[in-house]
Amino acid sequence: MKVLVINCGSSSLKYQLLDMQTEKVLAKGYCQKVGIEGSFSDHEANGVKTHSHRQLKDHKQALKLMSKFLTDKKIGVIFNINEIDAVGHRVVHGGENFSHSVIIDGKVKEAIRECIPLAPLHNPPNLMGIEACERIMPNTPMVAVFDTAFHQSMDKKSYLYAIPYEYYEKYGIRRYGFHGTSHKYVSNKVAEILDTKVDEIKVISCHIGNGASICAINKGKVQDTSMGLTPLEGLVMGTRCGDIDPAIIKFLSDKEGYNIHKIDDILNKNSGLLGVSGISNDIRDIEQAESEGNQRAKLALEMFAYRVAKYIGAYAAAMNGVDVVLFTAGVGENGIKVREEVCAYLGYLGIYLDKEANDSRGKLKEITTSDSKVKVFVVPTDEELMIARETKGLIG
Ligand code: ADP
Repeated sequence: MKVLVINCGSSSLKYQLLDMQTEKVLAKGYCQKVGIEGSFSDHEANGVKTHSHRQLKDHKQALKLMSKFLTDKKIGVIFNINEIDAVGHRVVHGGENFSHSVIIDGKVKEAIRECIPLAPLHNPPNLMGIEACERIMPNTPMVAVFDTAFHQSMDKKSYLYAIPYEYYEKYGIRRYGFHGTSHKYVSNKVAEILDTKVDEIKVISCHIGNGASICAINKGKVQDTSMGLTPLEGLVMGTRCGDIDPAIIKFLSDKEGYNIHKIDDILNKNSGLLGVSGISNDIRDIEQAESEGNQRAKLALEMFAYRVAKYIGAYAAAMNGVDVVLFTAGVGENGIKVREEVCAYLGYLGIYLDKEANDSRGKLKEITTSDSKVKVFVVPTDEELMIARETKGLIG
């Protein structure tokens, strides 16, 4: 069975074609600046990389280019686009409608459309991707895999905000959580490594990339997660502030005369590591600056690790214990120093870092010593594989 995974952003298309018998990636690609001047695309299959500067006016054209790459006489991996058995689409927000992946039909598309106010930047391009695929592959079944679905297992006490209840009823204001596909994949993976079932262990999953969230997974069910109504809440991120006192918004508005949109922009795009360090949103740049003695870079890194440690403590308490803490995504998989700094706070849990094991990037491995009461793992995430598995599960 061949499954195509599609991840459509507002001006981008990421895709992977997988053979689900072997779970091998047959081809993958990334089209950027779709609908904008200067489009370019990269495609890779069988170790051969192809670059294109073809202008892509919309996602349909990007998908056509993908189809051309996939079926090309020289670099192609299939003869005909109809050899694709199913398409799995990443959809960011499913609101309260979806606690699982679903086969896409008119009703599902309508429900995704209804969630646009909750994810105005993500759901419209996700829908665009679905509709463009339907035009190119009208007979191929499609599945929607939602970032929010895994978190729908949370209890009300975890997902409600303590604001007047009517706003939840009227507008659905609540914690939804994001990175659900990744948290689900890595928690299942770690259970597999430990030769146990995910519903027998308590896991704290730290998905730390440019965007970052932590998830408390109590015996397979999400107990809590750090992102909320939007991906702004929780950890210190590349450019996002994470948790702040909401009164700061009015205070800033009074002092600087900014309107609400300007403040929203500051909190989303100019805060976090970038805002504190004044250097970059990328941990590598900040670590470099710190090593050259930059004090703001040092502070940004301290705040970053401290917030992660604080959430781990909160979630260990909320679950009345934890068996495994795991790190994933760009920083989680590669940030040796960040992991070390976070783990330095966790001695009270009986977490003892094995510095030698931690000196590794992008590899699945345990990084705690054998006498550590709680195990810490680095688990590379694979959202595309998870989407492909969910798709196969529904179609296959
Ligand atoms: P997102 O998907 O949220 O955009 P990623 O998961 O790709 O982000 O993570 C990107 C971040 O990972 C970069 O901003 C950088 O801070 C971090 N990163 C990538 N490689 C390394 C590395 N070798 N060492 C430390 N941090 C790294």
